[in-house]
Amino acid sequence: MDCIFCKIANKEIPSGIVYEDDDVIAFNDLNPEAPVHILVIPKKHIVNLNDAKPEDQQLLGKLMLTIQKIAAEQGIAESGYRVVTNCGEQGGQTVMHMHFHLLGGREMLWPAG
Ligand code: 5GP
Ligand code: ZN
Repeated sequence: MDCIFCKIANKEIPSGIVYEDDDVIAFNDLNPEAPVHILVIPKKHIVNLNDAKPEDQQLLGKLMLTIQKIAAEQGIAESGYRVVTNCGEQGGQTVMHMHFHLLGGREMLWPAG
């Protein structure tokens, strides 16, 4: 499948991997918007939240707890961080493989643009 994040998960494209297990991989964003900007993705190709199925419930929970773990490892758990998933056109999604942005290391603005 011609999906850039599947290629990253399969190590066909190099990326700065910060975490990996059988189901999840996390890597540094190519164009970081914050001192810490990591993308956390399922290895399984799910387009976005609209595409997640009831059988993905455990995987979705695992993604959240993996983000918690990475935030602690990156030293931003106490200072705080933001987790974002952009879904679809108006959500600003540009890569059609579900991913969670973990952003931290600076004050975040709200509301998001
Ligand atoms: P979206 O706009 O879909 O929510 O986020 C896509 C993110 O993927 C962007 O922040 C973009 O910088 C990042 N990105 C796109 N292509 C690559 C790539 O080849 N490698 C890495 N590490 N990040 C990428
Ligand atoms: Zn994919």
